[in-house]
Amino acid sequence: MNLIIIGAPGSGKGTQAEFIVRDFGVCHISTGNMLREAIKNGTKEGKEAEKLIAEGKLVGDDVIFNMLGKRVLQDDCKNGFLLDGVPRNLAQIDYCEKLGIDCVVYIDVDFNAIIKRLTSRKTCRDCGGTFIDSDCIDNRCPKCHGEVYQRADDTKEVIEKRLKTYTEQTAPVVDYYKNTGKLVKINGNQPIDKVYADINCALKDAQEKAKQC
Ligand code: AMP
Repeated sequence: MNLIIIGAPGSGKGTQAEFIVRDFGVCHISTGNMLREAIKNGTKEGKEAEKLIAEGKLVGDDVIFNMLGKRVLQDDCKNGFLLDGVPRNLAQIDYCEKLGIDCVVYIDVDFNAIIKRLTSRKTCRDCGGTFIDSDCIDNRCPKCHGEVYQRADDTKEVIEKRLKTYTEQTAPVVDYYKNTGKLVKINGNQPIDKVYADINCALKDAQEKAKQC
């Protein structure tokens, strides 16, 4: 099964993606994580992406297509994948659709809750997990004890720009999928386990449908 998880920055896509990967055996492909890795490694793509990410803007489609095209060919994608962070604009839909998408999980969250969530979010340098600031004792990851940090684009100023970019460029992607019958809308204002219970239920239905085709 090939899936997309979509929602505004801070809607909980990364957290829910971990549960989906665990239960449905798909490979997690996060374009944001791939770009951060490229920045860390100082690659040409990373250098190009760094400034745009810091400004809350989208990275060029060519960079995304190049990274994604190589990633989906890897062995761990044979049982399907979960795209997280892509498609992020209308041009990226075409590219993703050519890969064959069965279901799109849309996490709908209130923007005020997002600003609160992201300004108190810490990311682990080692496992890449994200956590609430108050759960990170002595700046350490509650899961693997790696050092946690605040992403440069998780400041209030950049978050507001990212939400503007989302509204202008990514919300139309959600609208597009509403008319395809592939979209499942999940209430992301609920506790994490309840959000996942709803996703799990929707994906089991999608799995059944995919088997019948
Ligand atoms: P994320 O971790 O998904 O919130 O992504 C962090 C940042 O990476 C975004 O704010 C964008 O600047 C960039 N980015 C990630 N995925 C894409 C994409 N599919 N298209 C363009 N830019 C992206």
